[in-house]
Amino acid sequence: MFVAPTRSGNAGGSRSTLAPTMTATVPPSTGAPDDDRTDTRHHKIVIIGSGPAGLTAAIYAGRANLEPLVIAGNTPMGQLMITSDVENYPGFPDGVQGPELMQQFRKQAERFGTTIIEKDATKVDFGERPFRIWVGEELYRADAVIVATGASALWLGLPSEEEFRGRGVSACATCDGFFFRDREIAVVGGGDTALEEATFLTRFAKKVTMLVRRDEFRGSKIMQDRALRDDKIDVLWNKEVAEVKGEMTVNALTLRDTKTGEMSELPVQGLFVAIGYKPNTDLFAGQLRVGKGGYLEVVGETGSGIDGVFVAGDVHDSHYRQAVTAAGDGCRAAIDAERWLASVGEIEAATATNW
Ligand code: NDP
Repeated sequence: MFVAPTRSGNAGGSRSTLAPTMTATVPPSTGAPDDDRTDTRHHKIVIIGSGPAGLTAAIYAGRANLEPLVIAGNTPMGQLMITSDVENYPGFPDGVQGPELMQQFRKQAERFGTTIIEKDATKVDFGERPFRIWVGEELYRADAVIVATGASALWLGLPSEEEFRGRGVSACATCDGFFFRDREIAVVGGGDTALEEATFLTRFAKKVTMLVRRDEFRGSKIMQDRALRDDKIDVLWNKEVAEVKGEMTVNALTLRDTKTGEMSELPVQGLFVAIGYKPNTDLFAGQLRVGKGGYLEVVGETGSGIDGVFVAGDVHDSHYRQAVTAAGDGCRAAIDAERWLASVGEIEAATATNW
């Protein structure tokens, strides 16, 4: 049995929206009255987000003696907390439960001096150093920040979808497709995510029915062609899911025709929701570069466009969206942050190769 993770990403979306007043580089620390280095709320590095990217960044920053603070969010440790079997994270040949894996990440980060606050960051100001991050009324200052707030899958919002999440309803083909060997399943959505997931799922499923709410796809021509050529993929146009049905697990969907309103039933054992992702970037509006689909733009390797603010994981990655890629990204961001802190004299340059 599996539980589907919320994935990330948002559809469509704006072009780059860098606030006009934002400069690419932040001036050096001013020593202003609130820049008190003895203040326990002043940290060399603050990591916003606590999924695989954030906690891996914390492990690396901790091992570089940076005593990181992780602002983990009200529902900490990311999308793997609502995933059961994780079978593709290296090092676990028999698989691992998502929450167990994340507890291990957390323990490892804490072992190296990470402090974790299980609350949402509510406001940031990256306009000058030290950077400022608010958690409600509480203000934290940081010489460097890593943004690793991840992203969330969009769901249909049906009560029955919620009820069967992890019991036949998923939002991640890469994570859960394996559990549908020789089953009949449906994929909702008509964009590239849905087309890609439907095509991927033919590796396992006996048949994949795509449910598209209009009479055309939104996704790219090349991916449409690939899906339409596939004998295992059927497309039902002008259909939306009205209800997910089943007992212990899913056994059918009630569909509504979006043109005629006619209701019908589709017997399937699984439903993959692939209607887009929403990166968790609202907090950074007007502060960081937000690009296509609401994802943060990365400048250089892990930069944000503001010196000292780094970006890691699904909050910028609409392409791979894997725990292991997010973790790798967290490592890169922490190494870059440590080197940057050394380059501006906030810490001694000693650990660059000593992770
Ligand atoms: P998109 O916004 O492109 O597509 C979302 C799809 O879901 C649309 O067909 C939309 O229908 C449908 N949809 C939305 N809400 C509902 C709902 N409530 N019920 C039924 N259907 C719904 O999102 P994607 O995640 O597919 O793509 C996002 C971006 O990522 C795109 O730029 C895409 O090109 C890119 N991407 C690229 C990939 C690649 O190149 N390999 C892979 C995946 C994504 P409607 O069209 O009617 O609005």
